[in-house]
Amino acid sequence: MKNSLSKLRLILDTISDGVVVVDHLGMVLYANYAAELLLERGDLIGTSLAIPISPSLERQEINLIRPSGMAWAAFRATPIQWDGVQGYVLVISDITLSKINEKYQLQAAAIFESTREGIMLTDTNKRILMVNLAFSQITGFTEAEVLGKTPSVLSSGRHDLKFYEAMWKVIKETGHWQGEIWNRRKDGYIFPELLSISAVKDTDGNVINYVGVFADISNIKATESKLEYLAHHDPLTGLPNRILLLSRLEHALETVQRNDKLLAVLMIDLDRFKDVNDSYGHLMGDELLQHVAIQLKSRMRSIDTVCRLGGDEFTVLLEEIAQLEDAAFVANDIINTLGEPYLLSNGCEVHIGASVGISLFPTHGDNSEVLLQQADTALYQAKTEGRGRFTYFSEELTKTTRARIQLEARLRQAIERGELRVFYQPQIDVRTGYIIGAEALVRWQDPVRGLIPPLEFIPIAEETGLITSIGNWILKETCLQGQRWINAGLQPLRLAVNLSPRQFLHSDINTIVAEILAETGFPADCLELELTESALMQREREAIDILNRLHATGVSIAIDDFGTGYSSLAYLKLFPLDVLKIDKSFIDDIPRHRDDMEITATIIAMARTLRLKVLAEGVENKEQLAFLLAHGCNLYQGYLFSPPVPAEAFERLLLT
Ligand code: C2E
Ligand code: MG
Ligand code: MG
Repeated sequence: MKNSLSKLRLILDTISDGVVVVDHLGMVLYANYAAELLLERGDLIGTSLAIPISPSLERQEINLIRPSGMAWAAFRATPIQWDGVQGYVLVISDITLSKINEKYQLQAAAIFESTREGIMLTDTNKRILMVNLAFSQITGFTEAEVLGKTPSVLSSGRHDLKFYEAMWKVIKETGHWQGEIWNRRKDGYIFPELLSISAVKDTDGNVINYVGVFADISNIKATESKLEYLAHHDPLTGLPNRILLLSRLEHALETVQRNDKLLAVLMIDLDRFKDVNDSYGHLMGDELLQHVAIQLKSRMRSIDTVCRLGGDEFTVLLEEIAQLEDAAFVANDIINTLGEPYLLSNGCEVHIGASVGISLFPTHGDNSEVLLQQADTALYQAKTEGRGRFTYFSEELTKTTRARIQLEARLRQAIERGELRVFYQPQIDVRTGYIIGAEALVRWQDPVRGLIPPLEFIPIAEETGLITSIGNWILKETCLQGQRWINAGLQPLRLAVNLSPRQFLHSDINTIVAEILAETGFPADCLELELTESALMQREREAIDILNRLHATGVSIAIDDFGTGYSSLAYLKLFPLDVLKIDKSFIDDIPRHRDDMEITATIIAMARTLRLKVLAEGVENKEQLAFLLAHGCNLYQGYLFSPPVPAEAFERLLLT
């Protein structure tokens, strides 16, 4: 019996739970080895345990105060009879570790749920296992909506496959990745986030999960871009500053070089700005600068850059302009606009102005520093010359473009003020000597310069597009006059009007002619339109089509200045022509120059075989006329009979 008892003790000492027997007063009657370890006391027998024991089979948890510190224990008290005494068997286990774990887990869960960063946990196939509250708040997806899915439900499409591949490569190699990434919320809104992904490994080092933690950094980004904006813009006007101008200029130089265009830098300085500042204060000065900024911006194309360099200095970068003069036109427009009076909010009207210096790429320089420097030099020049004007970095450019711009402005006025006149030059039948019609030729009756010949302003009108309104006016004026002559009972006349290439190809000339004929009542078969070969060559198919339609209405078509262009009679057969006008240069040298005489004779002969009427231009003497008569030329015009004259003078010619 004694032997079996000691064996039992031996067994009891091997189990890891503490086993203690106490009497009803709590005195220890037996304790195994594990109990002594747990309670950190030897010789337990005979001592009091100081554990409140309630005799039940319920598991009880207690706090143990031990020399090494607090511990948690759980026990069950089972009543027994021990050597005739009523007692209890306590089986005590150490639950400190699991208690700590439990607490830790509770804390972790609290952190997981309460943190402001979005967290997602995935398995190794990147299937989402759990997400926290912040995840749902940031992305708009509830946990149920993403469980089992991969984080690609958030992808914004802003990163390519390579980006994600590189990201996962880093995670594989280092177990961690952090970076900025654009993701998409459930409502489609794309936002920037700072994301870290970590691989979670078990004790053997195998990856079992991935954890992604991210923060919405839209606000940080917004602040960043605001800072970046402030660094590159003028706070008063919101215009780009010098730093941004330089970078745009560099960039523009690259693109312009590639597509073979021009680029202009306009340096603008306000005239009399200092006066406004000094007399009305800085507040009014600031207001004026803001007004100038708005004016400048509203006049530019979207690709152009308007900058404020500081003070009253502005710069305009004109990208991809087609010709040198474009920059001058813009400069002139700026000068005119800023020259208009402005009413300050204090009720005072101020008159400032602007001077502009222009440099061009590639004419003046090929890098940004040089171009800015030259525009500055040109600006200085403009100011010393008397302000309110523009200057190119080079002298001749300044002169010629200024003259052209002045002329254009005056020509616009001339149209409005009715300073244009139509003169008529008689066209004569070579054989009979009778007037059969006239060519309408425009003149500009300038109050200062007198009569200005068309060659001085038609080319500019052509370039600027003014030719359309000028040309339409001439056409109508001529038809009105022709109808007046018909009404007055004069002999039937054919009136010829010159059409410029632009008028012919870029305005709806068929409609315009039809409308003018209808409005004035002038018969179509009394109207002749003169075109040069070059106008026909530009867009051949279209030209043929337009001419066929004009011709069908009864209008005749003449080829002007024949002999100076391509002069291919065979080519001209493509067009419905009626009259061929031999250029004055061939008539000039008759009868001195044999070659010209031969050419003229040949043109006449060939035109006749093509059934065209031939008219010789610029006939100044009788020898020329005799030659034309001898070779069968039909018509002529020239000083021999009459120069172009006003309508009344032409009437007198008819009556004599
Ligand atoms: P064009 O159509 O070849 O006109 C003939 C030009 O020769 C006219 O010059 C006329 O005055 C000039 N002329 C005529 N006979 C003689 C002569 O015996 N000796 C000399 N030396 N010259 C003579 P104008 O009026 O100065 O016109 C010049 C050019 O301007 C015209 O050449 C035409 O191309 C253009 N033009 C004139 N009026 C108009 C118009 O209304 N519309 C368009 N688009 N162009 C016009
Ligand atoms: Mg003509
Ligand atoms: Mg001519």
